[in-house]
Amino acid sequence: MTVPTLGTRWPPIAKTARDWPVSPNLLDYRRTCAEFSWAEAQRQLDGLPDGRGLNIAHEAVDRHATGVGRHRVALRWLSKDGARRDFTYGDLREETSRFANVLKSLGVGKGDPVVVMAGRIPELYIAALGTLKNGSVFTPLFSAFGPEPIQSRIDIARAKVLVTTDALYRKKVEPIRALLPSLEQVLLIGDVTSIQSFARVRHLRTLMAAVDARFVIPATDPEDAALLHFTSGTTGKPKGALHVHHAVVAHHATARFALDLHPDDVFWCTADPGWVTGTSYGIIAPLTLGLTSIVDEADFDAERWYAILAREKVTVFYTAPTAIRMLMRGGAAATRPQAFPSLRFLASVGEPLNPEAVVWGVGAFGRPFHDNWWQTETGGIMIANFAAMDVRPGSMGRPLPGIEAAIVRRTGEGAIEVVDAPDTEGELALRPGWPSMFRGYLSDEARYRQCFVGGYYLTGDLARRDGDGYYWFVGRADDVIKSSGHLISPFEVESVLLEHPSVAEAGVIGKPDPVAFEIVKAFVALKPGFDADETLNRELLGFARVRLGAAVAPKEIEFRPSIPKNRAGKIMRRLLKAQELGLPQGDTSTLEAS
Ligand code: AMP
Repeated sequence: MTVPTLGTRWPPIAKTARDWPVSPNLLDYRRTCAEFSWAEAQRQLDGLPDGRGLNIAHEAVDRHATGVGRHRVALRWLSKDGARRDFTYGDLREETSRFANVLKSLGVGKGDPVVVMAGRIPELYIAALGTLKNGSVFTPLFSAFGPEPIQSRIDIARAKVLVTTDALYRKKVEPIRALLPSLEQVLLIGDVTSIQSFARVRHLRTLMAAVDARFVIPATDPEDAALLHFTSGTTGKPKGALHVHHAVVAHHATARFALDLHPDDVFWCTADPGWVTGTSYGIIAPLTLGLTSIVDEADFDAERWYAILAREKVTVFYTAPTAIRMLMRGGAAATRPQAFPSLRFLASVGEPLNPEAVVWGVGAFGRPFHDNWWQTETGGIMIANFAAMDVRPGSMGRPLPGIEAAIVRRTGEGAIEVVDAPDTEGELALRPGWPSMFRGYLSDEARYRQCFVGGYYLTGDLARRDGDGYYWFVGRADDVIKSSGHLISPFEVESVLLEHPSVAEAGVIGKPDPVAFEIVKAFVALKPGFDADETLNRELLGFARVRLGAAVAPKEIEFRPSIPKNRAGKIMRRLLKAQELGLPQGDTSTLEAS
């Protein structure tokens, strides 16, 4: 592998057969794309016995838990305090069956959302897969959300069941329990004694101990709802993107192609299952391969991560640009490729991966990072730099087999044109039809339909394609913010700020950041009688943090006499952003006179 010289031009990182300790799953891109079909991809999975359909949990767990496969380690859990606990496929089969039996005994059935909010602890993984076994809908909520995002999401899902820890419940849910009328069952992870002070909760471990460790997965239609992932738009409420059991065909196939996963891999996806990557590739996809998946409970820590990669002999590492940039901060001294002889493939997703980071992987680990692209709605990786292909630093790569991508331009209401000329900017669009494509936004058919124009699904991302078919990210077509890999709605943040008695107007943008890609920045105009001083600034930051949680709250607030709006009264976030960046402010003719 040749290391390109750092500079303004980034030559491709060429690959040769020496770079592949095992034969890549995707060797001949053109041929594989030409021969690929989703029906054939589905044949790589088992299906439920006796032709009773397709269930994600069967493909991920039960089918590997027979014969010797039973003893293979499925999940290796590393606790914050240094303990290590292995779950074999056999263990996972029993634990998830118990969880499914618990749901069944509580009258939770097919299609019912089961909201799970917990850190990366074994119960989260068991609840996810047990929910799928029962035919219920796994609905993860990020554990760093505050009460506000929790309430709105439980409300949209009309969820009857919440699984969470005693600590999260005490801090974030109990104070708003009266505002969650749909919630009938709360199953708490923790000691019996620690939950005794709460009313209307049940102790998960006690329930699990009382039920059978065998469970027959009911017939599951591939189109049955399986996963509900919340994502953010520019306006309005969070969107609940619904996925079905058929998605497992894409989870499996894309993990083979884009992450090059093989059954004897030790795979570490660092994403939290509160977000889609942590579910599709942190829970489901690796288990469908029958491999060993590492789960680390702790938050990012460079030394800890290097130690895990080396000690656990991780072979495939899937992480995010913010984390890579934080590793890079440690400088060359922290990097020692010879410490990771097992590592053979590095991948990244979630935000733009700068070319420096791609190339840094070569010095640090002996391999480049392979960027790939997808989003909550697509359910699985759509565009990737593959193991057997040259990497173009700064590019997201090429579409996966079975995925037809295009660059399009909106030409009017409900109309687009496909842009064929290479290196031309436009909106990234995909031809619908792959199995992990979302099937709707819960209770919001109109918003779902708006995503489809002229036979394409429009992703909301701006990109360009070069003459060789590699896609390059340009930016978002809307105002949503990407911070540390998390998609954040400016509207959700503005709404909470407006609830503070001092705030008259609020406009929220993503401010570029060298590590987190963007940070949430709020511009606030105060009501008469309030002073724009440091004390109020701190109070507002704290107020937002308590209500929204650390992952969503603004990191910076700037007071302004007024917030620019157009004549329809809409906050002009683009203008705020241009002002923040010192860029030309574009057409301001629609600006409201202030
Ligand atoms: P989410 O739905 O939260 O997974 O966020 C999806 C969005 O993250 C995409 O629409 C992009 O804006 C951004 N994103 C994901 N992967 C990449 C990537 N490889 N390069 C640039 N942006 C990305």
